[in-house]
Amino acid sequence: MLKIVKFGGSSCADAKQFAKVKRIVQSDPARRIVVVSAPGKRFKDDHKITDLLYLCAAHIKYGVACDDIFGMIRGRYSDIARDCALDVDLSGEFDALWERMQSGISADELASRGEYFSAKLMAAYLGFDFLDAALWIKFRFDGSVDREASYEALQRAADGHGVVIPGFYGVMPDGHIHTFSRGGSDITGALAAAALDADVYENWTDVSGILMADPRIVKDPAPIRLLTYSELRELSYVGAQVLHEGAVYPVREKGIPLNIRNTNEPDHPGTMILEKIDDEQDGEDDSFITGIAGKKGFSIITVAKTGLSSEHGVLLQIMEVLEKHEINVEFILSGIDTVSLLVNSAEVSSRLYEVLGELQKGLKPNSITVAEHIAVVAAVGRKMANRLGTSGKLFATLGRHGVNVRMITQGPDELNIVVGVEEKDFEQAIRVLYDSFVKE
Ligand code: ASP
Repeated sequence: MLKIVKFGGSSCADAKQFAKVKRIVQSDPARRIVVVSAPGKRFKDDHKITDLLYLCAAHIKYGVACDDIFGMIRGRYSDIARDCALDVDLSGEFDALWERMQSGISADELASRGEYFSAKLMAAYLGFDFLDAALWIKFRFDGSVDREASYEALQRAADGHGVVIPGFYGVMPDGHIHTFSRGGSDITGALAAAALDADVYENWTDVSGILMADPRIVKDPAPIRLLTYSELRELSYVGAQVLHEGAVYPVREKGIPLNIRNTNEPDHPGTMILEKIDDEQDGEDDSFITGIAGKKGFSIITVAKTGLSSEHGVLLQIMEVLEKHEINVEFILSGIDTVSLLVNSAEVSSRLYEVLGELQKGLKPNSITVAEHIAVVAAVGRKMANRLGTSGKLFATLGRHGVNVRMITQGPDELNIVVGVEEKDFEQAIRVLYDSFVKE
């Protein structure tokens, strides 16, 4: 049995959190591969080490001194080392880094040192070996990961001993350090899990799993116990912030379950994400809906033209105009004589009149209208399929609370129902749906 365990920034924030990590790792001998983030915030107004490192990079770029910020960074690590009573002296490495910062260092390499030093300390604390991600995560020049080469390199490097790997970065073919986008330590963990065919990828964070709704909107939403990878995809697509998108593919491809856990509540089972969940696993749980998510910032462009549905190639013409302007269409809805396209307002705003002009010229429609300030809200649930009453309940709930529905779509797999509402109704829509599907 092998578990890859990844601890996020808040789990590595200080010695108190390091101690929790140690307890978690030591409580299960299968937890032999540990991936860590850079120390995150210890309290609300604290700084994340990665942010400070990027701040140093920006100072260097503009030729402004950053001694103080660098001092803060060093201080965070020496505090952890002291408070964990570690016999590790990072001062030589920090001095060398400072030297490099004077003579030129890339922002990627500098940012990567956050996880590098975090992993050095964690390895010493756990009594594990330090395994540098630069030795096995291999990027191509286009920034994608060469998975085959990376997996092979990790298989060669991991010899069954406990290791701690810094998250977030790897190496370019020319030897330069390259980072993933922010939050990318999740990907490092997923790649390690896939490379070593782990039994489970545990992603330890500071919430007890994925919540059924955004806690900034719904008070104390319940965590989701079981989730399929398809449901996760639906929820994150409409805004649920869980883990880095790029972390899903490597583990899903290998059929490895992903378990989101809380370092501050280690006995809580968190959310288990699987390819398939059968009735037996679901047990007593007969809720229709797995989660509710949504996001603001959309516009609906509606083209109306008599006889539109019997004309050939209209959709193609519309899509060509949007493609030319690199505007992604999130949803397409069609009526008898209308086609509506839901697009991201930020993407379309600077090119809106050009797009409308080209549609007007090419299609000669009766009208083109644009509705702005639209939000989408999605109710996601594998158990909605073939179950009567879900959409009825959803629309009745929204109607009862005065939420006007501007758009409706349901995927043919019945995994979700997505509604477009006005942005002013967004929070209310999520709250009333949560209350009606989860609480009642
Ligand atoms: N430390 C990096 C960040 O803050 C990567 C990570 O934690 O996943 O984005």
